Amino acid sequence: MKVVIVGGVAGGASCAARLRRLDEKAEILMVERGPYVSYANCGLPYHIGGVIEKESSLLVSSEAMFRAMFAIDVRTNCEAIKISPDKKTVELRNVATGEVTTESYDKLVLSPGAASVRPPLPGIDLPGIFQVRTVPDARAIREWIERGSLFLAGMHKYSGFQTVRPKTRAVVIGGGFIGLETAENLVHRKFDVTLIEMLDQVLAPLDQEMARIVEGYVERHGIRLALNDGVAEFKQTANGSLEVLTKSGKVYPADIVILALGVRPETSLAKAAGLEIGERGGIRVDEHMRTSNPDIFAVGDAVEVKDFVTGQWSLIALAGPANRQGRIAADFIAGRNSRFRGTQGTSIIGLFGAAAAWTGASEKTLNRIGDKDFEKIYLYPNSHAGYYPGARPIAMKVIFRKSDGRLLGAQALGEDNVDKRISALAMAIQMGATIYDLEEAELCYAPQFGSAKDPVNFAGMIAGDVLRGDMPISHWDSAEKGFLLDVREPVELAVEHVTGAVNIPLGQLRTRLGELPRDQEILIICRSGGRAYYATRILLQNGFRARTLSGGLLSRFHALLLVN
Ligand SMILES: Cc1cc2nc3c(=O)[nH]c(=O)nc-3n(C[C@H](O)[C@H](O)[C@H](O)COP(=O)(O)OP(=O)(O)OC[C@H]3O[C@@H](n4cnc5c(N)ncnc54)[C@H](O)[C@@H]3O)c2cc1C
Repeated sequence: MKVVIVGGVAGGASCAARLRRLDEKAEILMVERGPYVSYANCGLPYHIGGVIEKESSLLVSSEAMFRAMFAIDVRTNCEAIKISPDKKTVELRNVATGEVTTESYDKLVLSPGAASVRPPLPGIDLPGIFQVRTVPDARAIREWIERGSLFLAGMHKYSGFQTVRPKTRAVVIGGGFIGLETAENLVHRKFDVTLIEMLDQVLAPLDQEMARIVEGYVERHGIRLALNDGVAEFKQTANGSLEVLTKSGKVYPADIVILALGVRPETSLAKAAGLEIGERGGIRVDEHMRTSNPDIFAVGDAVEVKDFVTGQWSLIALAGPANRQGRIAADFIAGRNSRFRGTQGTSIIGLFGAAAAWTGASEKTLNRIGDKDFEKIYLYPNSHAGYYPGARPIAMKVIFRKSDGRLLGAQALGEDNVDKRISALAMAIQMGATIYDLEEAELCYAPQFGSAKDPVNFAGMIAGDVLRGDMPISHWDSAEKGFLLDVREPVELAVEHVTGAVNIPLGQLRTRLGELPRDQEILIICRSGGRAYYATRILLQNGFRARTLSGGLLSRFHALLLVN
């Protein structure tokens, strides 16, 4: 059997290696348009920032290694330019020489990834405007930064040597992963960084109130955000630097511009070969990663996948799914019945020592598809036992089905151990767990690692209280109106006061019940929701109608949470 794999990075390389492990006899050819195979594109922003100093560290594997260890014929600088499904051949062009050859295949695997979005804006090809996709892209950015601006060259007044003004102003366009990671790394390189984002928030998969925390955090660490604005044009000034002109009429001077406007699936080969393209613009595949042609498979950023929670088709450009899909395609080609379960979009981004992570459905996704059978809670548990040094709050939002408690999604932000909470919740979602399972989850605990009630358990307990009716809740953005009761201590009100709220500290509540109305619902607030829960229990058991405002004042003023 001869298998040709197009694309030699995440999905392609994992498919090739897996296939060899399963079939010693298969003839495997992997072609890659670029100069490297199996490189760590996830590390590129950190190479730009100097965290990963050596370019060679990004080259996880090599052509020679694939040949020696896996007996795979790897051809770099080799582009697949045409598939003929009827003849089962693929035409390959040597990028250096232009020579075109034809290879036959029994099975073809496409893992061509996604292309960076590059709108045809005036000036977009000016020198100093870059994207972050490949090793050569990162190299070009580093060279540009290290070279300084030749246009500003002058003569040093004492030595007479030629000087160049260092580059100091960066404009990053796009507030997704790559834009934010690159912006952070440019801050570390002492750039004055502005990030322009067309949407009204960064990190589009997050719900907006959670994204606000990220925004406040990165702004405090030196990234200037310009939300709700799109780029209209790039100009070069008389001294050779750049200007970014936006749709709102603003002008941002820059010595370097990074385009991080997102990606779109690379489908040109597949389209030309007549393969089915899905409604979201990715190659349509089945659960075995087979395209509409049973001898052609496709994996990675180029394909559409079923969202595990919503069941909708979606595009997910992440390394984990690409690697798993490559493995599944190899399994199926080798005669095993592996299936891709769908994706939850589990993601994490590290920023200035903090992390934002999420998995499953967001509230806005559920709203967009008209799903009303869900509830959300906000909580702010410590990352580990509060009495052990170094505990940091984690801001969490957990979304679950009202009707049966099934866990639907979670988002978390904080400076310590956010990843393990979202990873645990991601696994729970994939296993179809409910919030009642979270209550019962037995997780690692010693004071420096967690709490006897881990944030994951805690989320389950709060959500369980909500669904059992022990703690009816409300939200700041809900239409529900009622009598606002603030059960914090008076000293806390001096820091943060809610207009219209009546203050009865929790410790006085039992003796002051007579001050509360019985003819309307009482919405109870405290700092993070804990005391409001106790107060809700007291009032419910005394015949009042009461609800806890989930997450208390923190869910209203999240952005202040992570100040350090
Ligand atoms: C800067 C950056 C940071 C990232 N960070 C993360 C992260 O932290 N976490 C995460 O989960 N994901 C991250 N990703 C995304 C992740 O890298 C991708 O989801 C993953 O690499 C997709 O795998 P793939 O095989 O589909 O495509 P790729 O890994 O992009 O590989 C596709 C390859 O196919 C080649 N190719 C395309 N067309 C042809 C053709 N016709 N002939 C021959 N070769 C062709 C391309 O040159 C490319 O090298 C990041 C991506 C980038 C760019």
